[in-house]
Amino acid sequence: MPTSYRGRFAPSPTGPLHFGSLLAALASYLDAKAHQGHWLVRIEDLDPPREIAGASDAILRTLEAFGLHWDERPLYQSQRLARYQQVLEQLQQQGLVYPCQCSRSQLQHRQAHPCYDGFCRRHPPSTTSQPWAYRLWVSDAYYSIEDRIQGHYGQSLRQEVGDFVIKRKEGFFAYQLAVVVDDFDQGISHIVRGSDLLDSTPRQCYLQQLLMAPQPSYAHIPVITNAQGQKLSKQTFAPALNPQQVSTLTAQALAMLSHPLPPALESAPVAEQLAYAQTHWRTERLPARLSFATPYGV
Ligand SMILES: [Zn+2]
Repeated sequence: MPTSYRGRFAPSPTGPLHFGSLLAALASYLDAKAHQGHWLVRIEDLDPPREIAGASDAILRTLEAFGLHWDERPLYQSQRLARYQQVLEQLQQQGLVYPCQCSRSQLQHRQAHPCYDGFCRRHPPSTTSQPWAYRLWVSDAYYSIEDRIQGHYGQSLRQEVGDFVIKRKEGFFAYQLAVVVDDFDQGISHIVRGSDLLDSTPRQCYLQQLLMAPQPSYAHIPVITNAQGQKLSKQTFAPALNPQQVSTLTAQALAMLSHPLPPALESAPVAEQLAYAQTHWRTERLPARLSFATPYGV
């Protein structure tokens, strides 16, 4: 049965994949495959100072070791800068973008909460000797999604976020802009990712509206934390996925996603595990929260 389902997994090459990445990769892969869809991999390498040499290749090798084979050539955001620049200029022509020279300490000093106060909209920076960021003017509207796992989620961008940065002072394009442009250009119809990105989704919906891009379907899976309640990441020293434990880790990840394997498959080859999980996949079974914090081995 042909389908228009196109999903993706979009890691940043800031370190090796860890157990939290495996949950997101597996959930997006299985949801795509269970809907006879295409599964794409996008390397979000927009922040060179945070990237680690060789990490992109290591991520792709790890995905292959876990049986997660992508259907189209991986996309690298670092090769898309001209496209992001074109979109920035399009938004500038619409009068929606302005330069901001506020430093982090100025923002902290001026603002009680992280919502940008619009200072540089009212007081355009006068010096060109200092680097500036580009902020996108936000409207008063309320932007929301009906998430397949988390339910209704929305924000009034003006009250809760403020005008946000779409190109950073250092010259790098912001994640919010790049992700929306890429999802649009790649025809992504379904986004399955960690719930740490839920609060940036209304900003992405706003950008979709400005670019006349369709709104994809969203499913935000819970983010796994360590014993201290911190999200697993390189910063919290999450261990890299061990390629010697592919079947064990896949079985654990599927159990956390409320899709446990039968005992006979817990140490089976990963291709068999994935085939079973794909056949039995039900998006509505995915948990909105995790009932336990620390998985085995992390
Ligand atoms: Zn400013």
